[in-house]
Amino acid sequence: MGVLVMNGKKIVIVGGGASGGTTAQFARKTDRAAHITIFEKGKYPHYSKCGLPYAIAGIVPDFLNLIEFSEEYFNKEHIELFLETTVEDIDLKRRIVIAKKGTESTSREFDALVLATGSMPMVPPIQNIQTHNRFYSGIHVLRTIDDGRSILSDIRKGKKATIIGAGLIGLEMADTLHKKGMQVTVVEALPRILANTLDDDMSDLVRETIQEHVTLYTNHFATQIKDKQGAVTHLVIKNRETNEDAAIETDLCVIATGTKPETTLAKHIGCAIGKTGGILVNENAETSVKNVYAVGDCTEYHDFVTGEPICVGFGSIGVRQGIAAGTNAAGGTYSLPKGLLMTRTSEFFGLEIAAVGPIQASLKNKTIITGKYKGSSLPDYFPGGKPITMKIHVEEPSGRILAAQAVGSNAAQRTNVYACAILNGLTVDDVRKMETTYAPPIAPTLDTLTLVGDVVALKRARKKREP
Ligand SMILES: Cc1cc2nc3c(=O)[nH]c(=O)nc-3n(C[C@H](O)[C@H](O)[C@H](O)COP(=O)(O)OP(=O)(O)OC[C@H]3O[C@@H](n4cnc5c(N)ncnc54)[C@H](O)[C@@H]3O)c2cc1C
Repeated sequence: MGVLVMNGKKIVIVGGGASGGTTAQFARKTDRAAHITIFEKGKYPHYSKCGLPYAIAGIVPDFLNLIEFSEEYFNKEHIELFLETTVEDIDLKRRIVIAKKGTESTSREFDALVLATGSMPMVPPIQNIQTHNRFYSGIHVLRTIDDGRSILSDIRKGKKATIIGAGLIGLEMADTLHKKGMQVTVVEALPRILANTLDDDMSDLVRETIQEHVTLYTNHFATQIKDKQGAVTHLVIKNRETNEDAAIETDLCVIATGTKPETTLAKHIGCAIGKTGGILVNENAETSVKNVYAVGDCTEYHDFVTGEPICVGFGSIGVRQGIAAGTNAAGGTYSLPKGLLMTRTSEFFGLEIAAVGPIQASLKNKTIITGKYKGSSLPDYFPGGKPITMKIHVEEPSGRILAAQAVGSNAAQRTNVYACAILNGLTVDDVRKMETTYAPPIAPTLDTLTLVGDVVALKRARKKREP
């Protein structure tokens, strides 16, 4: 942590989600005397959106359990928190933020401003999805506690649910609704599931498991909602190859087709916006405007491996940017790595998946060698071993690791090793020669995470021997 700097700076944070909340905490840790204010337009203080599917499932007993830092916490830390208060204007010249709760207006001066405004659900063009600017009853997005509660109130055991979008959140919700006893259909416009997370062959492993539990339509657009007296009855989908339409009976529909960054205020004060639509930030979470920082889902940074722009969409990244923005805004020093690893994971229908670095399709401009290995979490003779498949992409001729993906047992922790390797520029030889832990009830002598490196090393050796 940075050194305590007692300079009493005025720091204003717009948005009290995970990124804004973390910013405030690290600003406080850095400067015990700073005046820190958070304006949050929602009802709840810093909570975990990532936990929403599990609160709907009932694994987390109450939505309010998702609150990670309460109003009392912020009070104790002398961080001023305004809930249900929307920042409507920022006067950059006078360094004033103007916020409103109903008709009541509050303004705060700032030395440093942090935009942590998050993102909004992206809803594809589906006919008849809403009436009078409201979704038909039974249709939902999932972004807030209120969205989660609303989905929960529409869940009926034995009835039919449809998820639009087979990304991480869509599949987490498919699992949740299946656990709640609904008959679930997943509709995905692309030819495969988890298209941004895994390569084709790895996502096929997940597909096999998912199809044991839900009906899956890939390569189908959701085109239209049919309703009866304002409540959804069917989702019409179109086969992208044949153009044929089909109507899926549904009582509940969750749209999980991604989000777009909320940048209204950022644009208003002249922050540069990147290609993906997020606020451009650097490794210190600084925007193009002096003393204005931005963090989390509203921002754009770039990929560590390819350098391509990426819109930040993970809590894991938002909180790290929050550490940087909070520390720097309060006078400390904290720089993030020179790009995003996009280390990601989830679990659905009992299958753990994880990945780090770009998918193969995004490595077109590099010469790579790929390896894949299917192993077990325990020695073959030991009961209870679970399958684990790993795939890695290695740059040629340097041997540098660029990406890794895993499906199966402890996929996340195995992938974390590769996150460390990529961040530190390790080669496949560095990783495959790593001495991993071994004891029969815990791990095999040689772990899949090094064996997959051996596969690549053998391919590289063969290639070198080729005339
Ligand atoms: C269902 C679900 C599951 C997820 N699972 C994972 C996961 O497993 N792992 C992972 O890494 N990420 C996950 N994510 C993504 C992660 O939750 C987000 O990346 C993270 O919440 C972003 O935090 P944020 O603070 O940037 O944005 P948000 O949490 O959206 O917070 C932004 C806040 O700004 C407020 N705001 C906006 N404009 C104003 C204004 N003008 N005035 C005042 N307040 C304003 C909003 O009300 C909002 O509360 C998941 C997301 C969802 C929805």
